[in-house]
Amino acid sequence: MDKENLCAYVSPENKPCGRSKLAESDDKCIFHQGAKGKSKSEFEEALRSLVQNQDGNWAGFFYPKGIELHKFNVDFDVDARWSEYFSVTFNKVNFQGKVDFRHSKFDNGATFTSSFWSNSRLDFSDCIFRGDTKFHALHYGETYFQNCCFQGRVYFSGDFKSQVSFSRSEFHEDADFRGGSAIIRIGGTENSNSQEVKKKH
Ligand SMILES: [Zn+2]
Repeated sequence: MDKENLCAYVSPENKPCGRSKLAESDDKCIFHQGAKGKSKSEFEEALRSLVQNQDGNWAGFFYPKGIELHKFNVDFDVDARWSEYFSVTFNKVNFQGKVDFRHSKFDNGATFTSSFWSNSRLDFSDCIFRGDTKFHALHYGETYFQNCCFQGRVYFSGDFKSQVSFSRSEFHEDADFRGGSAIIRIGGTENSNSQEVKKKH
């Protein structure tokens, strides 16, 4: 393919995207084009074709505002570092390989619901979570949220069979952790919201 038709994105590790530009007037592909005005359905369709082709190079993606990724079955390793999300929901997304979300930004809340993960490594280290983060998942492998900044509330529940590390992470609001029947709470201040969360248990 002609070089001028290729996406201009190059990762911080100097890896070019290599996909086609979205349109002649754009300089990037659908994944790397800024999130503004991006179609959720077109993006989702494009992402499904990556899954079909087992293309795990998801680095530096801009996800459309409010996108819900529903019922994805990803059976290969994914490099999703340096990505930006705005109100994203992962719903029944089944990652079976390693997933690397490091250095990403989750703006205006992120929800991971009933996502089923394999026994391999899941890494959210060095991410910024702005807005409430809800993480309800079943994961058998090691999970890392190291050196993260959680600027909203954190609700963390589900079944984690291996270690989950939050070392060096900052919690600016309440964090409610539940693993199995245990509740572990870290940081934050007592407020009406945290009480409400506890009562639901
Ligand atoms: Zn690209």
